[in-house]
Parts: sequence; structure tokens; C-alpha cells
Amino acid sequence: MSVPSVAPLDASKLRIELTPSPKDLPDPSTLVFGQTFTDHMLTAKWNIQTGWADPVIQPYGPLALDPSSTVLHYAPTLFEGMKAYVDKQGRTRLFRPDLNMARLNRGAARLAFPTLDGETLTELIKELLRVDQRWIPTAEGCSLYIRPTMIGTRASLGVGPSTEVLLFVILSPVAKYYASGAKPVSLLGSTKDVRAWPKGTGSYKFGLNYGACVQPQLEAAQQGYQQVLWLYGDDDEVTEVGMMNFWGAKRGANGVVELFTPPLGDIILPGVTRDSVLALARAHADPSHPFRLAGLPDELVVSERKVTMPELRDAARDGSLLEVFGTGTAAVVTSVERIGYRDEDVVVPVEGGSTGGFGRIAEAFYDVLQAIQYGDAEHEGWSVL
Ligand code: PMP
Repeated sequence: MSVPSVAPLDASKLRIELTPSPKDLPDPSTLVFGQTFTDHMLTAKWNIQTGWADPVIQPYGPLALDPSSTVLHYAPTLFEGMKAYVDKQGRTRLFRPDLNMARLNRGAARLAFPTLDGETLTELIKELLRVDQRWIPTAEGCSLYIRPTMIGTRASLGVGPSTEVLLFVILSPVAKYYASGAKPVSLLGSTKDVRAWPKGTGSYKFGLNYGACVQPQLEAAQQGYQQVLWLYGDDDEVTEVGMMNFWGAKRGANGVVELFTPPLGDIILPGVTRDSVLALARAHADPSHPFRLAGLPDELVVSERKVTMPELRDAARDGSLLEVFGTGTAAVVTSVERIGYRDEDVVVPVEGGSTGGFGRIAEAFYDVLQAIQYGDAEHEGWSVL
């Protein structure tokens, strides 16, 4: 059940307070993900009695919160992650923002926050992008990361509905993810810690799902692996790669390549990139569809199905495993070269890409997604001005 909002979020009521002291732009080559922020942020307060107050674009800066605010104690907080890209004509583009808005509203309903009109929030984000336009890096492969966030700000130690909520959007310029060329990563298949579980909240972008991932990530790093491969259940079901959706490809007994990803449900985050890769792969696999991905076999089976670690290990042993990769907004596509699993290293091929940083299939998706995101290729209206 979602909480009704009294006054709706209204983009026509937007107030803009420009900063008197704009910052110097950073050198894109020095950017570390998520550590540099633009001059302005968008904020909008919601109150159960009055609904949404007028949204404001104001100078970027600290928030004032009562120390008893529920977000600081019981973690009613959710976020989104999306990017703005500048195309060759100098226009700002967003990639499938409707999916981010739908995911934000799904999370808001689950946290008993007010839901909002996604098109209105997208309009407000576009206004913020116009105000901070000079911050969107134009160098090849760079973008501006957009972080919409909602937090419960009711000042009370009682656990209960968030009668006050703050929505804010901050922006962070990001360098090309693979500045020194794409590199495959190693994963530690975690048989100790679980990221998400049935009927839990793993399919939402709630802050509470992320804070507890850091310690297992450090443990993986100590053992010489870059990210955690999150497993679930007695049969070591594969769920996600770090903060990315999981993909694998193998050659079946009949020679046909199968591309697979775990099905959506309580333990999988419904990634925008995942949805896009699925749609592109299905279009490629459909002989009646004009769309083709360079580098992929004509005949391709696309599955959303359960995948277990023993299945991947056996496929690596018998040579049928072709690739493993992760997908997400930050890196788009990341190939995997090695998975530590129950005291064994499962070696995953990374073959056929143009540089060695990607396997052939991962690279095909990386190239086409980047082309769509930067407006160099058109696909079903995914890239919006
Ligand atoms: N899984 C998790 C746990 C994530 O946090 C993310 C990043 N949002 C993803 C997958 C990828 O989602 P998207 O493609 O929407 O960035």
C-alpha cells in the first residue's frame, strides 16, 4: 500500500537559488567515482499533512537533520543511479530514465514513503542538469552520475511511518570507467555472506542492502579477488556480481550459444542495464527482427533462469563456458576472468574481444549500449533528450 501524497510534486513550482561561488571544474583525469559534486542540488520536502513542498535547486551543501531523524536510526533510505551523457551535437541525454523512476517508486512504496510522478522528477532532474550543464564532462566515455535519494526525516525514535521525507538529487562527474582500457575482474563466490534472500529487500535500492556488503568485499580483497560473487542457498545459486547483474554464456551440446541471467525476484536487483541487454539479445536472437549485434552468433538462446556455481564450474571444466560478465550503470559491462569457489579457482575464458579486456559477447553489448547512451545509435527511444 502506498501513502497518498497530498500536494503532488510540481515542477512548475521549482525555485532556483544559484550559488554565489561556483567551483572550478575538475580535471576529468583526476576524478574518482562519486567524490566530486557539482555546484547545485535539487531538494523537495514531503510532509504527510501537506504533501510535497515546492522543489528547490540550491547550492550543493550539507543537509540539516535532527539527530533523531529515522533515517539515522532505522535506515528508511533509498536511492537511484543513472547518468547524463553529452552527444556529438552537445545535447544532454538520459538513458531510460522511466525505468529508474519506476524502480524508485517501487522502493518508495515498500518503505511506506510517498510515491511521486516519475515524469515530474525527470523534468526536475533535467532542470538541474541545465543549471549544472558545464559540469557534464564531454571527453569521450565521460558522463555525469545522477543520484536521486529519498530519506525518512521524521524526528522520532519510534519506529513508524515516515511522516516527513526529503527527496534530493546530487550530481557527480565521472571519468570513463575504463580510462586505462577494460580489464576483466576476479570474483570470490561468497558461501558465507548473503546479499539478499527470498521475501527480503534485495530487489530494491535501499541503503540498508549496501552498507553490509562492504565487509565481505574487504574479505574478498584480502583473498586477492576484486569483487564478491553473491551466492544464495544450499545449491550456491548465483545472484549478482558485486553491484552488477550477472550474465553467463555457454555452448550447449547442440553447439548453440546460450546467454543466461538469473530471473528477477526478491534476490535480484532489476537493473536498467540488465533489462537493456535482455532486450538487445532477444532482438538479436529473433530472426524476424532487423537488429543484430556484431560479434554474436546468429543463433542465440536467451534465458532468464537459475544458475548455480557448480554448473559454472562444470562448464568451465568441460570447456563449454564461454564468458561471464556483469552489467550496471557505472561500468556498463565488466568481464570476469576468475571465480574463487570453495577453495578452487574457476577460470573463465575472456576471448574474442578486440583488446583482451572483454570477451566477444561482453564487448558486443558494451559497444552497442555506449553507442545508444551517447546518441550515436538509436534504439526504441531509450536515449532521451
Ligand atoms: N545489482 C545491484 C545490487 C546494483 O546496485 C546495481 C546498480 N544499480 C545493479 C545490479 C545494476 O543496475 P543498473 O543496471 O540499473 O545500474
